[in-house]
Amino acid sequence: MTGRVIVTGGGIGGLAAAVALHRIGWQATVLERAPEPREIGAGMSQAPNAMRALDALGVGEQSRAAGVPTYSATNLRLPDGRHLQRARPGEATPLLAFHRADLHRVLLEAVPAGWVRTGVQVTGVRQDDRAVTVTWNGGEATADLVIGADGIHSTVRRLLWPDVPAPRFLGRTAWLGVTGATDLPGSITMGPGAYFLIHPLGGGRAYWAYVTTSPRPGVRYDDEKAEAAHRLRGWHDPIPALIAATPKEAVIHVDIRDLDPLPSYVRGRVALLGDAAHAMSPDRGQGAGQSIEDAAVLAAALAGEPSTTHCAATTPNAARAPRRPCAAPAPMAAAPPPPPCTGR
Ligand SMILES: Cc1cc2nc3c(=O)[nH]c(=O)nc-3n(C[C@H](O)[C@H](O)[C@H](O)COP(=O)(O)OP(=O)(O)OC[C@H]3O[C@@H](n4cnc5c(N)ncnc54)[C@H](O)[C@@H]3O)c2cc1C
Repeated sequence: MTGRVIVTGGGIGGLAAAVALHRIGWQATVLERAPEPREIGAGMSQAPNAMRALDALGVGEQSRAAGVPTYSATNLRLPDGRHLQRARPGEATPLLAFHRADLHRVLLEAVPAGWVRTGVQVTGVRQDDRAVTVTWNGGEATADLVIGADGIHSTVRRLLWPDVPAPRFLGRTAWLGVTGATDLPGSITMGPGAYFLIHPLGGGRAYWAYVTTSPRPGVRYDDEKAEAAHRLRGWHDPIPALIAATPKEAVIHVDIRDLDPLPSYVRGRVALLGDAAHAMSPDRGQGAGQSIEDAAVLAAALAGEPSTTHCAATTPNAARAPRRPCAAPAPMAAAPPPPPCTGR
């Protein structure tokens, strides 16, 4: 069986869903509110679970070519520069670091031409037992299913799960940037109530993130770069140099939020995916990776196949609800049960 899907949101999760649907012969339209398909933000890492999901989507090779090995998990330092732990020379690392735009581009290139419509801000969803219709200012479209991939502040979630609490501020805030830098292997420096992350990126760049506590969300500064530099004065090289080299307008300041798990990510013909379903603290380095897993699992359920990543969705360690958007809406319910998993 094949059908038509409307995906709301053209971020990494929405594009991954479109790629996954294309592979199983479904048609999709991705509605993205931004005027052009692009990923804003800085860098990220992807762990083996996400890379396996990218393999399942047929873009593993292209993704690996866009990523750079990062030793951020094994180079652990203190603000004075001492190493708590140091990656051994020649040691392999399971983590790949990406500029967000690079991973987004890999996915976008795998989406059939004409599937992504930009400048469309979805405002409504209505459904009956035959179809689901999405509306926006000046238009509407009907499909067999809707995938809400419209991020942590999802309109689709708000419309179909009106009782769910808003995203929760986690008491932390982050400054992020990308700048030119070479020969940085990746590291995390842990200070009092704060840490500083460095990932190497392709093209002679590095991504940095400074995460610290904050009493409330929404605290902003006239000069975000100067504020980050001030807070990190005295931290070891190359931290001050990385901030100094980052263009002022390229420093991003975001508050850290997550969502409580929902009992189900499916309402009738509508399923949530990615941050719309289960936004999580970025400390896990998993949010985008989980959205890619969601896409692979959802497509496998639609195709009636056991997913290559299904074990990730059902192992006891991962039994938290956010890995269950594969729970099938009505058209998917005929899928046979997956085989028992023995591990990841
Ligand atoms: C500081 C920080 C660091 C992180 N580091 C990592 C990391 O290392 N590894 C990792 O895997 N994850 C990381 N994450 C998490 C990751 O960024 C998110 O989980 C991921 O971007 C979620 O993708 P998404 O497609 O679900 O949502 P989004 O990226 O939020 O995309 C949603 C899209 O929907 C569009 N949209 C929204 N509303 C509408 C509407 N009404 N109509 C149409 N379009 C709409 C938006 O414009 C956007 O393009 C990090 C997050 C933060 C904040």
